[in-house]
Formats: sequence, C-alpha cells, structure tokens
Amino acid sequence: MSRLRRRQFLSSLTSGALGLGVAGRLRGDPASVSQEPQAAGTPKIIKYNVLGKTGLKVSDVGCGAISLFEPNVLRYAYECGVTYFDTAESYLRMKGEAYVGEGLKGVRDKVVITTKHGFNPAQKIEKTVLIKRMEESLKRLQSDYVDVAMVHGLGDLEALMKNQEVLAAYDQLKKDGKVRFTGFSTHNAKLTLEQALKSDFPQVILFMYNHSEGQEIEPLVKAVRAKGIGTVAMKIFAGGMQKNLKNMVKPGSSYPQAAIRWVLSNPDLDTCIPTMSSYSHVEEYVAASGQPLDRAALGLITRYQEQTRDSYCRVSCTACLSACPNRVAVNDVLRFAMYYENYGQERQAMDCYAELPAEQKPTDCETCAGPCELACPYGLKVKTRLLHSHDILSA
Ligand code: SF4
Ligand code: SF4
Repeated sequence: MSRLRRRQFLSSLTSGALGLGVAGRLRGDPASVSQEPQAAGTPKIIKYNVLGKTGLKVSDVGCGAISLFEPNVLRYAYECGVTYFDTAESYLRMKGEAYVGEGLKGVRDKVVITTKHGFNPAQKIEKTVLIKRMEESLKRLQSDYVDVAMVHGLGDLEALMKNQEVLAAYDQLKKDGKVRFTGFSTHNAKLTLEQALKSDFPQVILFMYNHSEGQEIEPLVKAVRAKGIGTVAMKIFAGGMQKNLKNMVKPGSSYPQAAIRWVLSNPDLDTCIPTMSSYSHVEEYVAASGQPLDRAALGLITRYQEQTRDSYCRVSCTACLSACPNRVAVNDVLRFAMYYENYGQERQAMDCYAELPAEQKPTDCETCAGPCELACPYGLKVKTRLLHSHDILSA
C-alpha cells in the first residue's frame, strides 16, 4: 500500500462505517445486483450481489482469510468495500478466526462472515462437541453469530444428511441465533452440487471454479443458483503459479485480475474469495470488482494456460486415481504442494499433508513404474511431482 493510501486508511479506521450506497444495475435477477461508480485512488468494490436466497448482500470480490498475519489487512479490505469474509476453524492453526475477529471489530454488522468446521460426516460426532466447537469459533471471531457455517471440505453430502447428530447440532445453532445459514465447501463439486439440488441443508456452497477447470460444473452451478443456493468460488487462480511465469502482468491488468474477471463473468457466481494476505493483494483484487472480461484479460488467461497446462494438477480431476495400484491421493497431495509452493501457505500445507492417511501418501512411488502418468490427460510428470511433494510436505 502506498504511504498516502496507508495514511488515509489508518485515519479512516476511526471514522466509522463504510457507505455501501448502491444503485441498481441488472444482471439476470434484478434483486441480485447492485453497482456504484469506481472512485479514483484507492480501489473500491463496485459490485454487490445477493447471496442466493439468504438475502445477504456481498461484494463480488470477497476475502479469503486463510493466510493472514496482519488483521489490518482485513480491515483495509473492508474499507475498500469488501463485505464477504471467509475463514475456518483450522486456518493458521486455529488463529485465523481470531484475526478476522480482530480485523473486523466494530463493523461486524456490516460484513458477512463464513467459517468452516472440518469433520468426517460418515463418522460419529457428538452434537454437543460440534456446538462447542462453533461456540469457540464465535469467541475467536468476537461475534455472537456467524452468517454462514460450513462443513469444511465435504466430499459426500449424502453422508452428512444421514448424520442426525450433525444436523441436530446445526439446527440447534440456528435456533439459538448463533448460525444464520448453513452450507459446505467442497473439492468434489460434481457430486456434491448434484446432491445439493435435493437437500435443504446447503444455503451457500463454496466450490473450486476457475478458467482451467470448472466449466464442466457450470450447468450444476446454474441449477443450484436457480434453487436459491448462494454460490462462492475458490481456487480461482488455477494454481496461482503466475509469479514464476512470463508476461503475466500487462499495463492495467494483472493475471489475478484477469482470473477474477473470468470467474465473475459467470452470472451464476455470487462472489469469490481470493486469499488476501497483504495490502497489495487487497488493492489488486478489489480493482477487478465489476470489471468485464475483455480481450486483454483473456489474453493473459490464455498465456497462463499455455504455460501451466502440463504442470497444474486440476484439483477436481481424478483421472489418474484408478490407475494407481497403491491408492495414492494424487490430486490431494499435489493440491497441498500447491498450497506450499504457490500460495505460500507452508504450515497449512504440511498440516493438511500430516492428516492424510498413510496409505494415501506417495511413499511407494519410488519403486513404481508410474501408470498414473499415462492416465493423466494433461501430461503431468506425476511421479516426479509426487516424490517432490512428499519431500517438501513432510520435511
Ligand atoms: S507412481 Fe505413485 S501415484 Fe503413480 S501409480 Fe505409482 S504409486 Fe501410484
Ligand atoms: S495428476 Fe493429472 S490425472 Fe491426476 S489428478 Fe492431477 S490432473 Fe488429474
């Protein structure tokens, strides 16, 4: 952040609420869109959508608060007009929610906060334990409620719908006013979005969606949105490898901005959550709010795709899994390596990897002929990547 902008921001911390005064501009559902003119200087969010049937008004560019070491970055995001903040119990080794609570102190009623709790819904979990975990989250968030409580990393919604203790816990939390809406995040959108069409549990869904993968779930995204479920996109930078690639910045447009514009060009998306770890992230991402996908942005995306085609493991892809004789969770391991190497989330990545069952780790790859590589439609050097990933993630 420039010195002038930082000074303006710091003085504004004491000046009260952000004026969201929005004038309507239609995009499909007249109730779902509003836009205000872009101000000169510090970038501002210029577009707000309504999050499904929740009625919550959210900035089209939200804030993923997964790797954050300075609560004022969040506050700056808020001052720039961001109103959707996504965190989780597990982020930053249980400290992520506390940063969100600290950064948004005093403006709680002007923002939408989502937090997530991870557990295996196919296993027994006590209602009281889940309620307690939510109450601990609320203490860290310095709030009496969360707007959206999500099951973190849900792979199968049917399993969740059979778990009466979990459903009872969320019901109770809603009755007590501690949770307003429920939902889940998922890396298995092809299945879970389909399941969501027949379930009342998800009111908001967070799923992976970017220009390199995700197009195949667009009909499902449209269907869940039409049902009234709020839609939030994550992993929007398709691996986030731009810092090691050529020609990823053009005057007036950066690759991350192009990737955000691509995601938001889908009218069935309510918001997206690029991780905002610094003031410069905030400014770069917020500047993409309400911007159309133009030729320059598409050019950047094409260049990115050309340079990452055989190195980016599509998070939602499972094409190689059945070829592995050893049940290695290839896409999960490479996703954790992506967190480590491209997102700068070393600890989080190592924690995720540590939780992976031993039989799903690539410990036998060294002596394997690597049939996974033949199965990969994108030509990734899967075996080499897995061995490298194991080295960095278990160091
Ligand atoms: S190299 Fe590893 S991941 Fe690939 S098939 Fe062999 S054991 Fe499975
Ligand atoms: S390595 Fe290739 S086939 Fe395997 S999950 Fe990744 S992109 Fe899909």
